[in-house]
Amino acid sequence: MPAPLPHSLSSWSEAPRVQALNAHDVRPGGRYVLCWLQQALRARDNPVIDAAIHLGNALGLPVLVYHGLREDYPYASDRLHHFILGASRDLARDCRQRGVACIQYVDRAKAREKGLVYRLAADSAAVLVEDQPTFVARWQSERFAERVERAVFAVNAACLVPPAVLGEGIGSTTAFRRRHQPVRSDWQEATDVVPTVAPYDGPLPYTPDRLDACSDADLDRFVAAAAIDHSVPVSPMFPAGREGALIHLERLMDTVLPTYAATRNDATNPIGASMLSPYLHFGVVGPREVMATVDAADAPAASKEKFADELLTWREWFHYQARALTAPERYDRIAGWAQETLEAHAGDPRPDIETLDALIHGETRDETWNACQRQFLIDGWMHNNLRMYWGKRIIAMTPDPQTAWATACYLNDRLSLDGRDPSTYGNIAATFGGGSPGRDGPSVYGKVPTRSDGSTRHRPGGPDWLQAAAARPRPDATVPDGLPTELYLTGKPPL
Ligand SMILES: Cc1cc2nc3c(=O)[nH]c(=O)nc-3n(C[C@H](O)[C@H](O)[C@H](O)COP(=O)(O)OP(=O)(O)OC[C@H]3O[C@@H](n4cnc5c(N)ncnc54)[C@H](O)[C@@H]3O)c2cc1C
Repeated sequence: MPAPLPHSLSSWSEAPRVQALNAHDVRPGGRYVLCWLQQALRARDNPVIDAAIHLGNALGLPVLVYHGLREDYPYASDRLHHFILGASRDLARDCRQRGVACIQYVDRAKAREKGLVYRLAADSAAVLVEDQPTFVARWQSERFAERVERAVFAVNAACLVPPAVLGEGIGSTTAFRRRHQPVRSDWQEATDVVPTVAPYDGPLPYTPDRLDACSDADLDRFVAAAAIDHSVPVSPMFPAGREGALIHLERLMDTVLPTYAATRNDATNPIGASMLSPYLHFGVVGPREVMATVDAADAPAASKEKFADELLTWREWFHYQARALTAPERYDRIAGWAQETLEAHAGDPRPDIETLDALIHGETRDETWNACQRQFLIDGWMHNNLRMYWGKRIIAMTPDPQTAWATACYLNDRLSLDGRDPSTYGNIAATFGGGSPGRDGPSVYGKVPTRSDGSTRHRPGGPDWLQAAAARPRPDATVPDGLPTELYLTGKPPL
């Protein structure tokens, strides 16, 4: 049974964000409170760091923030490594400004460290980790809490409203919105907790990498030297780190929000969407800061409401849903009726099947689909409206529904900066079988409603835009011998 929260955490105004992950008690004799960040890579408005400082202040101990980047995480590529290292560099710089020590480790052949987070934990009073419902951060935190002999507390930093205050069993977005909306204002105020103990400068079990002292060229060298997938390049559209997030926040306020309600669905409009999802996924910016920007913007109420509905209702709904699932990445999360009808039509003629090579590179016989996929392949992001068409078409382009699910998740997770997220699997599941069944059709979709490309193709200039988007020069990404299906079909983490 998990241990009760210590008083310093249970009496904190953000206590509903925190849960104990194991039964160990806090050990006051430690050198520091360890704060292990994996995805919430920001120093300010970060409830994981705040919880650690609260606990540290109560124990008279400093906080030590740690971020490590392995080479062998699934889909490790230049694109992801570059984005994460840039965020981590700014995390260290901003922690220092906050009076908190932050150390890093970049895994590489010349400096291999085994079990580093366990060795760091051995000198700690307790460890604070992130409460993330999907992918590596979830798998690592759960395994760590089982094995380490220290108290481990998980803190939700991803959502504006801590999911715990919403209660269990909400079954639809409408019900979720009703529960979520009235309590949003309770969580809108960010208050960075001030450390009362000097930053930690004692012994460490390794020589940390000082990313805050690294130039861009130094970070590039880390990326180039890493044993990762170098065929998925850095995305120039998403500069790494806080500067990139701030550019996109400013863009949201000045150019996107004023017309968001009207232009959000127009993939051909370059200012139709905020493009903040990569920064939200890696926690470079949190929903609280984004909403403060929205509130301060000079924009029509309809646009602000629409944006809040996307960021707060839809995004936090998928986080909420994922928390209730043992394996949010797994095929069987798709609605039962949709699995049934898709499987009943698995043997139907499939004239639209494509090879994995053609799918990865956006070189199928479907120009619109290619335009969508080139955004993932080149930019590491895709417009929301295109994602819906993209997801639906994969059902027809693959041999059966299970392969379709694994293919959609694989392409999204490998290529998109915002992939591997509760919104990834929640949205793909909705694309495969959200809403209600339609009439059973003669095609491989069965009762799953299909979607045309009309919302883009029928706009003025739509056909030209699609043609140009599908013909963008593309990188030559490696094609695996087989589709990696284990996580998506059995739920077994590859790490
Ligand atoms: C098949 C499919 C796959 C998707 N995969 C992902 C994914 O891997 N990661 C991801 O973050 N989103 C995913 N989405 C949701 C959505 O498409 C993206 O969040 C959005 O396009 C990101 O662009 P933006 O930041 O410009 O969005 P904006 O329109 O500017 O919206 C602002 C923010 O609201 C949130 N948001 C918007 N739409 C949605 C939505 N439908 N569901 C949940 N949150 C939303 C995002 O955090 C987004 O950054 C997917 C949607 C579909 C249909």
